[in-house]
Amino acid sequence: METETKPVEKQTNCLGCNKPLKKLKKYYRDGKYYCTKKCWLKAVSAKKGAEEEAKK
Ligand SMILES: [Zn+2]
Repeated sequence: METETKPVEKQTNCLGCNKPLKKLKKYYRDGKYYCTKKCWLKAVSAKKGAEEEAKK
């Protein structure tokens, strides 16, 4: 029996742009990794937007 969902061991992609993270260049924030601060802001604002939508 195959399992489709694998446990997340390491975050390898940026949560802002979804590109693979490079070892030398990454931005760590709130337990997650992003490639730059820009990507972090993008991910945060997207999350906030989703939360605002959920309130309506
Ligand atoms: Zn990114």
